[in-house]
Amino acid sequence: MTKDKREIARRPDKAPMATAWDYAPAPEARDIVKVEERYGLFIGGTFVEPASGERYTTIDPAREEPLAEVAQAGKADVDRAVRAARDAFANGWSNLRPSERAKYLFRIARLLQERSREFAVLESLNGGKPIRESRDVDIPLAAAHFFYYAGWADKLEYAFPNRKPRPVGVAGQIIPWNFPLLMLAWKIAPALAAGNTVVLKPAETTPLSALLFCDVLRQAELPPGVVNIVTGDGRTGAELVSHQGVDKIAFTGSTEVGKAIQRTLAGTGKRLTLELGGKAANIIFDDAPLDQAVEGIVNGIYFNQGHVCCAGSRLLVQESIYETVIAKLKRRMATLRVGDPLDKNTDVGAINSKQQLEKISALVQSGIDEGAQIYQPPCKLPERGYWFVPTVFTNVAQSYRIAQEEIFGPVLSVLTFRTPDEAIEKANNTPYGLSAGVWTEKGSRILAMAKGLRAGVVWANTYNRFDPASPFGGYKESGFGREGGRHGLEPYVVLEDA
Ligand code: NAP
Ligand code: MG
Repeated sequence: MTKDKREIARRPDKAPMATAWDYAPAPEARDIVKVEERYGLFIGGTFVEPASGERYTTIDPAREEPLAEVAQAGKADVDRAVRAARDAFANGWSNLRPSERAKYLFRIARLLQERSREFAVLESLNGGKPIRESRDVDIPLAAAHFFYYAGWADKLEYAFPNRKPRPVGVAGQIIPWNFPLLMLAWKIAPALAAGNTVVLKPAETTPLSALLFCDVLRQAELPPGVVNIVTGDGRTGAELVSHQGVDKIAFTGSTEVGKAIQRTLAGTGKRLTLELGGKAANIIFDDAPLDQAVEGIVNGIYFNQGHVCCAGSRLLVQESIYETVIAKLKRRMATLRVGDPLDKNTDVGAINSKQQLEKISALVQSGIDEGAQIYQPPCKLPERGYWFVPTVFTNVAQSYRIAQEEIFGPVLSVLTFRTPDEAIEKANNTPYGLSAGVWTEKGSRILAMAKGLRAGVVWANTYNRFDPASPFGGYKESGFGREGGRHGLEPYVVLEDA
């Protein structure tokens, strides 16, 4: 060990910041995926021209460059897709032998794995997320969801003992832009496993991986009309929600739109599940392994640029370790590499859209105006594209907008607490209830906290960990219904007495 290294090992505070190290660019090959110039709507197993005649351009948010022309589905298009789904439901899919349904799901899962590099590149191009995340998280988890629900397709009787499950019918599914292919998988896999057919609308800004997925469906020879993909903006979603031929709506997105959908559906008898926003508390006790906790804090809020509904956006630190945690956190933040999503070294990619960047900027400004202390590490941003430097706010009061509202960006608000009871009270002081994190060495404390926290998911000594077998969903304004696990089948079955 050189003298310098010994010095660093003894006094980590003297360690050179990792920003002193320069990584050579390591770009993923972009040409592995073929992006068409224009796309139609995927209805009845083929791409068709939109009757609306309308199209829009979808872009690469890191370069502000157009990628493709995409159809804006109108009322007639949505109607055509719902009819195709209804026909496919009636003409075989709903009474296909469950083990046969499973084969299709297994095929889709395997094809996603085989084509994972293509999907990863496309997801990063169209959404701005780092290739490391698309490659290691989004795409493998999407495939895992299809594998998992393939396993349930012929075992539904065991999922619901003493009941006779049958499919609901046509599911209308609306997804957001933060995990485009993964949210598609969360929606489509359980619906198909239970024998339903689907009309899915991807988010306006990230339609491309759903359109590439149509090619996987063709390769898998899924019967025409079982899955239909209609692209477009919120108007397309609204048409799908109000269409009479849809039996169930599954929505993931903002609380505002979720409430509007619930109002539209009130009294119609249509089934509804909502996965909405969050403002999770990530709670660090003084006995926690602090270096691991700091990794968990960083993963909790800077993963996917903070475009994560379950992001640990409120950090609750026990008062006695406050200074230490903040110092460690700031040092770690200085090592985050922000930039080209296709570079394998990138930790934080581009903000998904101009609109989202404006929303983040406005909320950050409100934090400064209300009196919070802002810290951003030195960071050189690319000239073009939508970017936001990883940010932490200290000196935050619970009443500040940055402590109350979902920012959906790489912005952390820090609060402190003294006792476990105070931590629970502060953590629950939000209209949301999607997730929470607890960092402590004591198992009994983890259990007591999990009991007190009003959150659908509570992670202990980890954060943002997902598994297809584990149900996910919210309390309060974070929505209702669960996705993942056996619970994720429930919204897609009608249970009759056996
Ligand atoms: P959003 O505007 O609510 O959009 C979600 C989806 O709904 C998009 O496909 C959107 O189309 C569509 N939509 C918009 N208006 C609609 C309407 N009136 N009727 C039917 N559909 C409509 O939310 P976002 O801006 O995409 O995503 C950010 C929000 O989603 C955040 O608040 C976040 O917390 C939440 N989210 C929650 C979860 C969860 O699991 N709980 C997961 C991810 C995101 P456009 O794309 O054209 O707007
Ligand atoms: Mg929107």
